[in-house]
Amino acid sequence: MKASQSFLATLKEAPSDAEVVSHKLMVRAGLIRKLSAGIYNYLPLGLKSIRKVENIIREEMNRAGAIELLMPMIQPAELWQETGRWEKMGPELLRIKDRHDRDFLIQPTSEEVVTDLARNEIKSYKQLPVNFYQIQTKFRDERRPRFGIMRGREFSMKDAYSFDRDAEGLKKSYQIMFDAYTRIFKRMGLKFRAVTADNGAIGGSGSQEFHVIADTGEDAIVYCPNSDYAANLEAAESVSLIGVRAAAANTLTKVATPNQTNCTEVAQFLNLPLEHTVKSLLFAADQEKGPAKLFMVLVRGDHELNEIKASKIPGMAESRFATEAEIKQACNAPAGYLGPVGVAADVTVVTDRTVANMSDFVCGANDAGHHLTGVNWGRDLPEPLVMDLRNAVAGDPSPDGKGVVDICRGIEVGHVFQLGTRYSEAMGCTYLDQQGKAQPMVMGCYGIGVTRLLGAAIEQGNDERGIVWPISMAPFEVVICPMGYDKSEAVKAAADQLHDELIATGVDVVLDDRGERPGAMFADWELIGVPFRIVIGDRGLADAQVEFKGRTDAESENIPLAEIKAKVI
Ligand code: ATP
Ligand code: MG
Ligand code: MG
Ligand code: MG
Repeated sequence: MKASQSFLATLKEAPSDAEVVSHKLMVRAGLIRKLSAGIYNYLPLGLKSIRKVENIIREEMNRAGAIELLMPMIQPAELWQETGRWEKMGPELLRIKDRHDRDFLIQPTSEEVVTDLARNEIKSYKQLPVNFYQIQTKFRDERRPRFGIMRGREFSMKDAYSFDRDAEGLKKSYQIMFDAYTRIFKRMGLKFRAVTADNGAIGGSGSQEFHVIADTGEDAIVYCPNSDYAANLEAAESVSLIGVRAAAANTLTKVATPNQTNCTEVAQFLNLPLEHTVKSLLFAADQEKGPAKLFMVLVRGDHELNEIKASKIPGMAESRFATEAEIKQACNAPAGYLGPVGVAADVTVVTDRTVANMSDFVCGANDAGHHLTGVNWGRDLPEPLVMDLRNAVAGDPSPDGKGVVDICRGIEVGHVFQLGTRYSEAMGCTYLDQQGKAQPMVMGCYGIGVTRLLGAAIEQGNDERGIVWPISMAPFEVVICPMGYDKSEAVKAAADQLHDELIATGVDVVLDDRGERPGAMFADWELIGVPFRIVIGDRGLADAQVEFKGRTDAESENIPLAEIKAKVI
């Protein structure tokens, strides 16, 4: 490929809305351009990396026996009404109408459609197991799209769905996917960790997330450095994270005293700046563990209440503050569980009248604002409170008895899930077993954030000059920078020849034929993050040598032209 024929669009400055390094660098390197909040153009170099990610995923999915298909982005509401998700999903689900006033949606995920396909096409146990996957655009109307394409509204996901005869079969299918994911992220050269995740509202019997380790990650992971133990904070709360609870109790004691308050008061109690306090703090009693004495929801404005409204309060259509009764219902609280609800200007606080035994409570600052239980700290929290929780948890004994736990941050790039029969039962997706009896298919689902992976890789690989790609994801593997491509016949001939030879051996090489000055040329390719650079100039050619430099090497080295191919193949 010639640089003049690939569309280079590097920028000196990052956009002002870019908070994290991957977002800044993806725009500066000319990989993406924003069209609207959370909606991006993928420029040619960005698309090249996406295709490489897709290919790795595709190869490993095929190797694992999954079968590729493609489902529509626009899906009819009827299927989602069958499972109840049309009503249950909050405003994240983008609902649209056609010209006949019929309801449709843009897929955020495709359980309903794939289950519909399976119930129509699969009749017999002989056709099972089967695992269908697609790599397809998704849309989620995220409350806060940010970090470029890491939390976009439109993004690309690989989603796979396995259908088995029974729970035993599902376990096998799940393990096959787990192993495939491990191979995928290894091939991408990422530092990652598989963590136990909460089954959440979907139910099912097991779920794990794959996290790329990065300080800018939105999720917290509790892990044991001496063993395989790792869980996201929500799942980790089921083990004895006494420290978190103590820290939570500490905070709650301060906050819980008044049962009616406003943002300013809450901010004072928490000793935090106002804007941090009201963003998206959510404190919740651990309902799973039996009766709790306190339930507290702090939500800002009608925004989060909308989410509670749409996802948790059936039939509440308009945008307004929820009432006490509605919040209680939304929190699924048993009678007498919640105390008075105070609704102030832009904060709602729900507390019990009496606060006993603080250690029963967990505390969370939830970024997404829609988990009503669980522990999760949001990025909006200023460091002191984050540190409190981190200090409280780190050093806790581990759940598997192999040491103490620590905490790190991660970016969720994949999620594997044992769904069971939740969808197949709701939608009548059955097969005939050996006795001719109809049985619900047992399902699993498996997602990978294709576009998010680019951002995650850049969070792990960057320096002051730009992106440091893993070679498997880089838009080009090698760049040839000729010194005076248009001035020296010898340089042009050598550069062209090396370019053609590398292409012929399957190396993804780009030849910079733009005639830029060396400094500008090098800066562009370092920003774009091409792993290897070969400089060809008259002086070196006189000794049949070229200059070779790996993206992170401190110095370049002179290599005989005859040996350069071996360096990069
Ligand atoms: P998150 O917790 O980050 O919101 P999720 O748990 O809602 O993600 P899943 O439903 O598990 O996401 O979807 C599978 C994968 O899709 C995720 O693991 C993630 O890599 C990717 N993904 C989810 N939401 C987004 C988004 N808004 N932008 C880009 N990728 C996303
Ligand atoms: Mg999400
Ligand atoms: Mg998640
Ligand atoms: Mg997930």
